[in-house]
Amino acid sequence: MQNKGTHNPPSYREILRARQKNRHFFRNGVVLVALALFGTAAALAVVKPPEAPVTYHTEQRLALPDPFPTPLGHDASTSAAPFVSETRIERGDTLAALLQRLDVHEKGLLPFLTHNEDARSIYKLYPGRTLQAALDIEGNLVWLRYNHTPSAVENGTSVAKWLEVTPDGEGGFVAQELSKMADVQVRVAEGRIESSLFGATDRAGIPDAITLQMADILSSRIDFIRDLRKGDTFRIIYETHSHDGVESGAGRILALEFNNRGKAHEAVWFEHEDGRGSYYDFDGRSVRGAFLRNALKFSRISSTFGKRKHPIHGRWTSHNGVDYAAPTGTPIHATADGVVEFIGNQRGYGKTIILRHQGKYSTLYAHQSRFAKGLRKGARVNQGDLIGYVGATGWATGPHLHYEFRIANKPVDPLSVDLPVASALEGNELDQFKQVAAQYRDQIQLVAQLQEEGMSLASE
Ligand SMILES: [Zn+2]
Repeated sequence: MQNKGTHNPPSYREILRARQKNRHFFRNGVVLVALALFGTAAALAVVKPPEAPVTYHTEQRLALPDPFPTPLGHDASTSAAPFVSETRIERGDTLAALLQRLDVHEKGLLPFLTHNEDARSIYKLYPGRTLQAALDIEGNLVWLRYNHTPSAVENGTSVAKWLEVTPDGEGGFVAQELSKMADVQVRVAEGRIESSLFGATDRAGIPDAITLQMADILSSRIDFIRDLRKGDTFRIIYETHSHDGVESGAGRILALEFNNRGKAHEAVWFEHEDGRGSYYDFDGRSVRGAFLRNALKFSRISSTFGKRKHPIHGRWTSHNGVDYAAPTGTPIHATADGVVEFIGNQRGYGKTIILRHQGKYSTLYAHQSRFAKGLRKGARVNQGDLIGYVGATGWATGPHLHYEFRIANKPVDPLSVDLPVASALEGNELDQFKQVAAQYRDQIQLVAQLQEEGMSLASE
């Protein structure tokens, strides 16, 4: 299903191959639409190519990850398949707490994990990664997995690595590092924003990595910190990696549609002949605009800060800028390629950088706590480069970024202007792209239908 080296979405044959590899996703030969456990607003499905006859089967998702994996070397069809649970590592989690959550109470396991050399990768618990445990019917541990490297790309293929701990049959344990080429599935997810983007993506079971990719891909079109509204909807087609039928990490977004305040933005991944790829809208225009909509990266933190306490959250102010409340030290990025025109102190603005861009555009970043190392007047910066850190220097009531977007030295609200657009595909490439985009567009429409049907089904 990896569409590397081709310009097309997965073919029917590729999907079939994945289906053979992974029966769980395609039970009884039907496409499985798993309604997210947490609500009906979000459905999760596996894409089927639009040209094939389609039968849909709707199924409530269980509390535990589905599909259930099989232990290495065991037959999936045996009735003694273990019961697998999974937990996500949160910041500050301890191994003991994680085992508790997985309901693993194996005697001697914790000391083994903390002292055995072979298990040393578990010493470092990365937030966001997962731990999985398989227990037999009596609650005994069959295996414990720490998915510390969900899907690293090596030589162009995705490889998942994990630590696996199994009982040695004599009251002790064995730990070993395992790895496997990840199977790639294509998934479709959709959601509707009620209070926050992460709220919606969490409900839809969309991995954080995909949510962040989505924000990144559309960062020239949408200011994800300031523009999102209740009722915004999105549909994403993306790859996930799995091994032994268990999802192990997120791959790439292949296509997405985001309806923000009544305006649809779409992006389709397209790979050029030279192997490099980027995202284009349905008309073949690059979505990578000349300017990012804001200078702070969208994250779980940025999606919530300012809402509760801080009065200044992404507001266009009377003093001609946009104020983004953010913790001191939050990285600030250049919103476009440019040259440092000013770097230093400016009265009320405190530590300030002004970048000069193409044409008559410039941007200003004020109240910084410090600048990026080595940045000087006259230095060239690229879009997205780190230039400094949020602070409260100058006249600031709290840490925030004061951002100004200027045209001919006059500040304007960047939301109110059409920013210069980037390149578009042409000729042969545009023709190829249009075929790809048409298929994704169909799939996205299919998901929209499914969403409606799924919701009505669930409410019966
Ligand atoms: Zn301000």
